[in-house]
Amino acid sequence: MKMLSIVINDMHIQVPEGTTILEASRQVNLKIPTLCHLDLKEFGIKNQNASCRVCVVEVEGRRSLVPSCAEVCTDGMVIRTDTIRAISARRMAVELLLSNHPSECLVCTKNLDCDLQKLAQDLNVREIHYTGEKMHYEKDSSSFALIKDPNKCIMCRRCETVCNELQTCGILSAVDRGFNVIVGPAFHLDMADTSCTFCGQCVAVCPTAALTEIDNTTKVWQALNNPKKHVVVQAAPAVRVAIGEIFGMEPGTISTGKLVSALKALHFDAVFDTNFGADLTIMEEATELINRIENGGTLPMLTSCCPAWVKFFEHQFPDLLDIPSTCKSPMIMLGAITKSYYAEKMGIDPKDIVMVSVMPCLAKKAEAKRSELTKDDNDNVDIVITTRELGHMLIEAGVSFTRLQDSNFDSILGESTGAAVIFGTTGGVIEAAIRTAYEWMTKKTLEEVNFKQLRGMEGIRSATVKIGERNLRIGIAHGLGNARKLLEDIQKGISHFDAIEIMACPGGCIGGGGQPYHHRDMEIIKKRQMAIYQSDQNKKIRKSHENPYIKKLYEEYLGEPGGEKAHSLLHTHYVPRKRI
Ligand code: SF4
Ligand code: SF4
Ligand code: SF4
Repeated sequence: MKMLSIVINDMHIQVPEGTTILEASRQVNLKIPTLCHLDLKEFGIKNQNASCRVCVVEVEGRRSLVPSCAEVCTDGMVIRTDTIRAISARRMAVELLLSNHPSECLVCTKNLDCDLQKLAQDLNVREIHYTGEKMHYEKDSSSFALIKDPNKCIMCRRCETVCNELQTCGILSAVDRGFNVIVGPAFHLDMADTSCTFCGQCVAVCPTAALTEIDNTTKVWQALNNPKKHVVVQAAPAVRVAIGEIFGMEPGTISTGKLVSALKALHFDAVFDTNFGADLTIMEEATELINRIENGGTLPMLTSCCPAWVKFFEHQFPDLLDIPSTCKSPMIMLGAITKSYYAEKMGIDPKDIVMVSVMPCLAKKAEAKRSELTKDDNDNVDIVITTRELGHMLIEAGVSFTRLQDSNFDSILGESTGAAVIFGTTGGVIEAAIRTAYEWMTKKTLEEVNFKQLRGMEGIRSATVKIGERNLRIGIAHGLGNARKLLEDIQKGISHFDAIEIMACPGGCIGGGGQPYHHRDMEIIKKRQMAIYQSDQNKKIRKSHENPYIKKLYEEYLGEPGGEKAHSLLHTHYVPRKRI
């Protein structure tokens, strides 16, 4: 690769051709502020909005300041990042944004977690010298998952890049012109009326509170304060490896025991583990996969536990609705079992049970409200909150998370295996399914449970797993753009698989839209992934079908995996939706 010589703040350095000034400055630990910039190189996506002008620097021989995020270094370039002119221009850019921005930080969801607020602080903005008319738009809270507040939008267009290029959903773009321009769906449609998957990746990158999750914490407090209700909570695998970040713990810290203690400190009546639901999912999904393989069913079988992925294929591939597994997601399965088996055992009317789910995901909020997944007007899962919302509740309640002792999940829906915890990362669901399918198909003990060929962070991966005499072709994709590529190749007959796992978010649930903001730092996602695999390693039982409480559930209540009762409680169907 050709190397270039540049001078940056009097430092002589070499950078590879194609390096931007911003990247060069980071190489020598110089901090240039950014706002609209979004580093998606890891996903093969170039993002050079260069619209906010917050990262401007001086380049010798150039009359105008240049945006360092978009300007590529040239040989012999002399750059200064710290001149009064550059600093003043950055401050002015932020002041202009603030002049058309509601000053309501104290009551804003993003207070202390907002890039714009932080930038105003870092640039020492103490006065706004520009006044004028401010935008006034209605908030869009039409969906169950997210709120769009255009009044707080700074037109950085990060959301648009993520939605259109990473997720290929095409929901968000600039609509109207001039002063009235906003980012939103075409024709100002409500988000609920579009093909939005509610993956929440736009929320994860929005630097302000223009895109945030629907906050359900008040509903949880109300349920907890209602003595007539038996309030049960479940927590997803990805939550336990990320919630510590909210309390200053290192990314990738496994906080399972503290998480359970924290939920108990909030006075839930029972604390169950979504991982139990994941083990149950494997019982049903492995059964379905084996049936399809052995009885000439439709292949490939697609996993169906990611609700953003489910909504994506309903809108984008309505002709392929027969290939996803009919299994409900672990969250919904656990809700269904809580309101049937557990309710019966405890002698509680299911109508008096409130099931709260703590999820890394915004799409789970919408999934819980799908009409296909609610039975007898009694939702399987009543309230979904994200990892971030749980963090807010714990801070509100004064729970010192880092000082908590470890506790165990409650019986009878709290025991789980290593296979279940890996649901939290890309590749984990299919690995868990293979561990069980292998033993059921070969009737032999699987000695090596780590299928390393299924692991990793590449957007699209494939591997062949030998099960007896059969070679099972496995495909894996994370990120909806990658999922689209994989499905299009199948439609064109380019790719042939027996089973495919897809997760909508980069990295899988560990990178979900409801997790502590990771600012697209893939190192954080990788640390969470390592923690997930470590949690699996730490478990005594690592195959779902060996979970003793799962065995008991089938013996006492469900009958056979894939049987009539299991089918009515644990399976669902999909509906074709228009692409809007
Ligand atoms: S989005 Fe940020 S700057 Fe705007 S009100 Fe909220 S915290 Fe303050
Ligand atoms: S939630 Fe996902 S699909 Fe919907 S607008 Fe945001 S990025 Fe696009
Ligand atoms: S909604 Fe958020 S991410 Fe999208 S353009 Fe506005 S401020 Fe940027």
